[in-house]
Amino acid sequence: MAKRLQNYIGGSWVDSTASETYTVRNPASGKALAETPLGGHDDVDRAVSAAREAFPAWRLTPAVERARYLFEFKHLLEANFEELSRIVSQENGKTMPEARGSVRRGIECVEVAAGAPSLLMGQALEDVAAGIDCEAVRQPLGVFAAIAPFNFPAMVPLWFYPFAVACGNTFVCKPSEQVPLSQMRMFELMHDVKLPDGVLNLVHGGKDCVQSLVEHPDVRGISFVGSSPVAEYVYREAAARGKRVQALGGAKNFMLIMPDAARDQTLDQIMSSAYGCAGERCLAGSVILTVGEAHDWVRKGLTDRIAKLKLGAGVDADTGMGPVISAAHKKKVLGYIEKGIEEGAELVTDGRTPDAPAGGFFVGATLFDKVKPDMTIAQEEIFGPVLCLIPTKDLDTAIDVATRHPLANATSIFTQSGKSAREFKYRIHASMTGVNIGVAAPMSFFSFGGAKGSFFGDLKGHGRDAFDFYTDKKVVISRWF
Ligand code: NAD
Repeated sequence: MAKRLQNYIGGSWVDSTASETYTVRNPASGKALAETPLGGHDDVDRAVSAAREAFPAWRLTPAVERARYLFEFKHLLEANFEELSRIVSQENGKTMPEARGSVRRGIECVEVAAGAPSLLMGQALEDVAAGIDCEAVRQPLGVFAAIAPFNFPAMVPLWFYPFAVACGNTFVCKPSEQVPLSQMRMFELMHDVKLPDGVLNLVHGGKDCVQSLVEHPDVRGISFVGSSPVAEYVYREAAARGKRVQALGGAKNFMLIMPDAARDQTLDQIMSSAYGCAGERCLAGSVILTVGEAHDWVRKGLTDRIAKLKLGAGVDADTGMGPVISAAHKKKVLGYIEKGIEEGAELVTDGRTPDAPAGGFFVGATLFDKVKPDMTIAQEEIFGPVLCLIPTKDLDTAIDVATRHPLANATSIFTQSGKSAREFKYRIHASMTGVNIGVAAPMSFFSFGGAKGSFFGDLKGHGRDAFDFYTDKKVVISRWF
């Protein structure tokens, strides 16, 4: 039996009280890598108590000293960059370039959070009335928690805990039970940084663990990333208990291709957006709205490129696309392909029986044409390498199809016309928007999060929003006699 993972609580590795486990598998081979304990109330209570006890002293620690721990952490992340990327590839299936990209994006969050002494500064104004001065300072709130999805195991937790602890809060991180291994390694590195005990804790679990975090009275706020139904549940239940919540949900991302787009570059961008990370990105383009004559060259260009895409284990250098996360997820993605055929879309490339290593959870790059906006494959998040083409007659119709969808995470337009791009940027709902960019991912110094059914809350992930989310702004008005 694979190794059972421990929690990290109060500065020590401790056994979970859970009786059940989830088997973590390498999606490229199906081989068991570890057993994640599915902890619940007792583990969460222990972690939250450790964080609560650590809070007063951590709050008193000057921001500049708190930031120094992050500089040290960043140094260790760099020193172990290749190992971390390899773990991500093994637990999640990403190719090594994708895994490296995700670890890099995570490290960039640590870099921005280390700017806390400047970014935490408040505001002040003398003489708001005669002899009266006013200042606004940011204060940490207490214990925060993050709940992460399977698709970016190293990066997504780093959207949150570096910022929260830099602000003076203490923290409980719950990785996805499907991909806990890169966070385990990061917490070992954090242990070497000698962050005071209890400032940062890790608990393993699934649904029960999430429910316990949402219900725990000492958790002041929650950062969640995952599917929209769970995001909405976390938002609703945590907010009803007076907690701050930022809950980033699912996606159905539209890419609009104008006839004047730069062809080769556009096709390369579509390929990496739709099939990169096996389509398991919240920013993956999953519906292409071709405008007018763009349709023919897009369809042909994609078909040619798909034929050259090599499936394999992410750690192999010549792999173009890795597997999806699990056997269950593969089944779900195949179900959507069946549904697309059943509802009358034209299956241009069929990924159901790909040429791929045995034992892994592989789905080949799949392309549907003649998709109608109301078909299931154009409505629901598939989260796999399945791309839909919807031909439209003009920009107006294409924007209309995209904005009618209830999810609005990311979107892109491909065009050489400033006028079309401006029209698109102005009217589109998704709040991560690209112009000639396939994956419109905001970097760590900007905020990250979608709109409509893709995001629940108001302050988004990382960037300046993080400093607002993890602090209270206290205004002090003073008069001296
Ligand atoms: P998920 O919703 O199944 O799981 C996310 C987290 O919630 C996990 O930690 C899991 O343990 C927990 N969870 C799962 N079911 C639960 C339940 N019923 N009650 C309480 N907790 C539960 O998501 P996933 O499959 O791990 O990740 C993929 C999803 O995440 C996709 O929908 C993707 O679009 C989304 N995502 C969004 C963003 C974004 O920035 N908006 C980023 C990454 C992923």
